[in-house]
Amino acid sequence: MNWRTVLRQNFVKFPDLAAFLELSQESLDAIDQNPRFSLNLPRRLAEKMAKNCLTDPLFLQFVPLKKELIVDPSFTLDPVKDSTFQLTDKLLKKYEGRALVIATSACAMHCRFCFRKNFDYQTEDKTFAHELDVIKNNPTIEEVILSGGDPLSLSDEVLGPLLEKLSQISHLKRIRFHSRFLMGIPERVDDGFLSLLRDYPKQIWFINHANHLNEFDDEIWKALKSIQKLGIPILNQAVLLAGVNDNHDTLKALFSSLVDNGITPYYLHQLDEVQGSSHFKVDPKEGLKLISSLMGSLSGYAVPKYVQEIPNRSSKTVVS
Ligand SMILES: *Cc1c(COP(=O)(O)O)cnc(C)c1O
Ligand code: SF4
Repeated sequence: MNWRTVLRQNFVKFPDLAAFLELSQESLDAIDQNPRFSLNLPRRLAEKMAKNCLTDPLFLQFVPLKKELIVDPSFTLDPVKDSTFQLTDKLLKKYEGRALVIATSACAMHCRFCFRKNFDYQTEDKTFAHELDVIKNNPTIEEVILSGGDPLSLSDEVLGPLLEKLSQISHLKRIRFHSRFLMGIPERVDDGFLSLLRDYPKQIWFINHANHLNEFDDEIWKALKSIQKLGIPILNQAVLLAGVNDNHDTLKALFSSLVDNGITPYYLHQLDEVQGSSHFKVDPKEGLKLISSLMGSLSGYAVPKYVQEIPNRSSKTVVS
């Protein structure tokens, strides 16, 4: 099935989801049915959730609880201060050598902990003319990161010309994708998409976002493998989330399955303190304990860097 057709089957209405997950009245009472960041959940992920289970690690990631309405003054609208690093409305440059293109505001799914959930992006213009101009005129930019939202939300008709124009900028050495799309819609990796990446003149890196092993299935691993087979390294980044993956066994299962599939765990992120996500926070002291126990049981390359985004630093900050 065409990936857009699959995407249109996402759950976006609570009654449909409640029926599918067989939610009791008590469970429904815990859900915020009118969330500011809307419900958007691929069927494939809903199918992996236990029925009527408020503690399911996928349910917690994608279904809005009333806990999102808790106001904690340290959890703000723009915790990573992205708005102060904008070169254009769709181009961020925080770090040496790298610039990040907010390729689209759309995602295959809406994650309840997302630090971008309060943003209104201006992403009507799909030619990226202004962004390409700025990149072209800044030879210090060696790597362009396609992010969002999710860059795989763009059609091949938009992504193809963008990649083509980037390939012509001689000082660019690498293109990086940051995407969570395949965890919901692996059908996105079709022949058309693969042909955009095949024989691309610059090195491509692909960073997948997944937080729990339950998000995966054989089709997803296969989609990831077909990208790797083009000589594109795949890394994974995860967010440490209370109730979802904040224990040794869950992280061990995730990281070991990733390396079994040739994917390197890159970062484990401390939660960005965005308004409405305080119930996901794990104390960094607990996070450090987890990392140290994982180092005692996994190959060195299977344990990611535990990092935090602190505004105005020259890189992500390793939690210590
Ligand atoms: C995280 C981030 C990057 C990439 O950082 P790496 O440490 O190289 O993965 C680049 N630009 C922005 C704006 C970022 O937030
Ligand atoms: S896919 Fe990524 S950008 Fe989109 S809502 Fe989830 S975490 Fe946020």
